[in-house]
Amino acid sequence: MPILLVDCDGVLTDQLCLFSALNKELGKDKKFEDCFSYHLHEVWETKPEEIDEALNRIEKTFSYESVDPARDAIEAIGQLQKKFKVIILTARKPQHESATKVWAKKYFKNLDIIFARTDHNRHGNNSPETKLEVCKRLNAFALIEDNPHELLDLAKQKISTQTICFNAPYNQDLDKNKKIFRGNWIEIRDHLLGQF
Ligand SMILES: [Mg+2]
Repeated sequence: MPILLVDCDGVLTDQLCLFSALNKELGKDKKFEDCFSYHLHEVWETKPEEIDEALNRIEKTFSYESVDPARDAIEAIGQLQKKFKVIILTARKPQHESATKVWAKKYFKNLDIIFARTDHNRHGNNSPETKLEVCKRLNAFALIEDNPHELLDLAKQKISTQTICFNAPYNQDLDKNKKIFRGNWIEIRDHLLGQF
């Protein structure tokens, strides 16, 4: 079966919970639809260090087990699993490993999880393997990701893995890149299943 890699945060999970927590920490009232950049300090008009500190504080109490799945993710993954071996590929830190496993089991069936590093997120893990290297090692059919910087980097590489962008306010610019398909879970499901 071809392998489909799926990012966790902002693709399988709904980001609103984390977004509200950041608003609370920073004493602001930003709307998710106004989140125009993946560099959060640009959205909240502050220094990168202030975002880092706020995220570190949030991480101590944030319940990764009670995050909602993204809209239509459960149905789409179930249908995609008829054609693909679906694996979560996340840059979450090791301390969130067990919560991530519990969460994935609660909503999805038979989803393995790979923790890999990314050079495009200041808050990820330090795994020896990068997301790009996992794509290569597994000869993955596609990777679904929301980080525009990760996607642009992957699209430049000579790999057979298709880069698919999960639509979010902070990755709208990717529409200019014809190599990267962008959509919600229903559109991505149809795009992938339409290739068989
Ligand atoms: Mg993500």
